[in-house]
Amino acid sequence: MNEEKIGRRNFLKTAVISASTVGAASLAVAQTRSGTKTDSRIAMLPHKELGSTGAKVPILMLGASQRLDPVYDKIMHRCFKEGVTAIDTALSYGWGSSHKAVNNFIKQIGDRKKLWITSKSGSSSPRGLASDLDEALEELGTDYLDLYFMHGINDEDMLDKDYLVLGDKLRKSGKTRFFGFSCHDGNVAELMNKAAKVGGIDAILFRYNFRRYGDLELNRAIDACKNAGIGLIAMKTYGSVPENIQKVVQFTSQNFSIDQAKLKSVWADDRIDSIVSEMDSLRVVRENIAAAKSEEKLSANEFHQLNQLAALTSSYACNGCSQYCESVLQNKVAIADPLRFLMYYECYGKEERARELFHNIPIETRQFNRSELARASAVCPQGINIASRLSKAYEALT
Ligand code: SF4
Repeated sequence: MNEEKIGRRNFLKTAVISASTVGAASLAVAQTRSGTKTDSRIAMLPHKELGSTGAKVPILMLGASQRLDPVYDKIMHRCFKEGVTAIDTALSYGWGSSHKAVNNFIKQIGDRKKLWITSKSGSSSPRGLASDLDEALEELGTDYLDLYFMHGINDEDMLDKDYLVLGDKLRKSGKTRFFGFSCHDGNVAELMNKAAKVGGIDAILFRYNFRRYGDLELNRAIDACKNAGIGLIAMKTYGSVPENIQKVVQFTSQNFSIDQAKLKSVWADDRIDSIVSEMDSLRVVRENIAAAKSEEKLSANEFHQLNQLAALTSSYACNGCSQYCESVLQNKVAIADPLRFLMYYECYGKEERARELFHNIPIETRQFNRSELARASAVCPQGINIASRLSKAYEALT
């Protein structure tokens, strides 16, 4: 079909935009680590400076937690060709195989400097973080990371002196250009506020999507980080709920699919520098890249529909704010984690991964009493029927 005959709506929703269709503005080149220009054959995505690091990153990064093809990963290659030159990986991703697949990919493109590579370690000690960085470099076949995260932290002590000194040491060693943390937990605002105060954190990866815009505490923490020059990268931007639940709002738009609109709503927030998106099919790659390259803004009506969706489906969307629900129970019961893994199962089709993660939850925190959980539901800002959703998680994941 002649591309000119494809309506703008369909074009944005499905087209792979080639270099020739990208506007002149988005062809501006970004500087790489060495100061050389990026390969002109790579179609450019809009870039932003990551906090005040001075480094420019594409506004869309590839999340590499899925199982990648260790021989030739077509998703990584397609992303790269379209300008998604940043990969977010971790020692634990892809059942430990992600680094090796990225290693092979680096060899295939032939120049490490064309990529931005983030990796993470779940170690909770400075010594473990340092040795895990060495292991990550070895597995990735590179002598430096662009960004190294303490993975999924929830303990404010991990922003104390020992860790900040480590970050400084790792930066000075050249093993990583930048240092920061990721967080899935409910105390992300506290961690962000502390990071803004103590310094030494270059970037933070955190859960942020259309469901969080009214969250005053989180907004203040985002402001504090922005003012402190900390780079902010959003993840879990789809705010997913099961598909049949999402259908409560029949999203209509001339320009965007609902998933594209969710991404655009995060990019509309100037404080956010980039989005990590796990793109597990070429269709998703095409849609996300088209949205990233589109200069079209979300309309008030599209925002309104997302707000409606957030309101009508909140009782299926756990925000991870475990400080509310878990703290009112007498015994420690894991709530936020099983509900997150249930989302992986119900919304992303990651059944194996969800079960594996669920089984890592300490057994003693997997016992619950339904009537006691009514107290937890009463304080849940999302209005989740926790007993019912936890039962569903146990049924699906055990
Ligand atoms: S169940 Fe509710 S209170 Fe608990 S973490 Fe999820 S959203 Fe927060």
